[in-house]
Amino acid sequence: MLTTALVSDALRDPLHPTQIRRRDLRPDDVDVRVTFCGVCHSDLHALATPADHGGTFPVVPGHEFVGEVVAVGVAVTDFRPGDPVAVGNIVDSCGTCTMCRRGQENFCAEFPTLTYAGRDRVDGSVTAGAWAGRYVVRDRFVYHRPAGLDPAAVAPLMCAGITVWEPLRSAGVGAGTRLGVVGIGGLGHLAVRLGRALGADVTAFTTTPAKAADAERLGADHVVVSTDPAAMQAARGSLDVVLDTVAVEHDLAPYLGVLDLDGTLFSIGYLGPVTISTTDLLIGRKRLASAGSGGHRWTQDLLDFCGEHGIVADVEVPPATQADTALARLARGDVRYRFVLDVRDLDAPQPA
Ligand SMILES: [Zn+2]
Ligand SMILES: [Zn+2]
Repeated sequence: MLTTALVSDALRDPLHPTQIRRRDLRPDDVDVRVTFCGVCHSDLHALATPADHGGTFPVVPGHEFVGEVVAVGVAVTDFRPGDPVAVGNIVDSCGTCTMCRRGQENFCAEFPTLTYAGRDRVDGSVTAGAWAGRYVVRDRFVYHRPAGLDPAAVAPLMCAGITVWEPLRSAGVGAGTRLGVVGIGGLGHLAVRLGRALGADVTAFTTTPAKAADAERLGADHVVVSTDPAAMQAARGSLDVVLDTVAVEHDLAPYLGVLDLDGTLFSIGYLGPVTISTTDLLIGRKRLASAGSGGHRWTQDLLDFCGEHGIVADVEVPPATQADTALARLARGDVRYRFVLDVRDLDAPQPA
């Protein structure tokens, strides 16, 4: 079917509505009417990456979305028209490698198919994202959305949320865990909220003193302004697990320093080369780890947990026509804490 999508045709080309074609339903496909889709740092990156550096144009961004099922393929048994659903940044994987068999499709040995600018495993076409009226996706990568949660505020759980959830779960964060969260933004504000709901004692690290009160509102038990050397010194050796969500390159040593014996630092915000001294790991037998996105198992676990605990993201919800403004503000860090585009009108008839 045809649907209206926000497309950027080339580097620095503003997003504009264009008709695109979604594939006819395969037996295991679900056709979703998209209602809300988040704005992620990955979208900024995709729109700002030249073709000779791996960028793909034209591109339709958007990979954390919610909506309702319109129709299902003949082999789909788990979804019916009208079901509230959510989809993240993976829409297919090989299904047979050891990672896929463990429900960790995000680490598929053949690389998962991304929601946009990915390569469809059946017809080889380039995937177009969910800043669009409709999205067609394999049923395995569609998730039931809990009732009672604001749909727009659920969308960021599908990328920002799951990116912090897998490390929280794999590290066994629970009652009494001393958890640090570095950076109070799209990922960090959800890490504070989820950590608190898991029963952890949460310390938020921020460079912005103005965010201290906000971190407490989100559930942080303690706030450390990381530009204050005395405060960082006082926090040394005090934490079991730290999630570092800062998206730009920075020194990890201070955050290894706040770990206690056998503590783990997850670097999940900045993806790129980092330099550390192994001495910072040696003293206290510390671990440096990372994580990204989520597989089937933990994604449904996250949604179920958020349904039980009433957890959603803090969102600002502009109409789809303001996508470029939202992107510009995100680039400046001017959002608390996630933009989610309202795309419900994209497929509405336009005035002649
Ligand atoms: Zn994302
Ligand atoms: Zn696989």
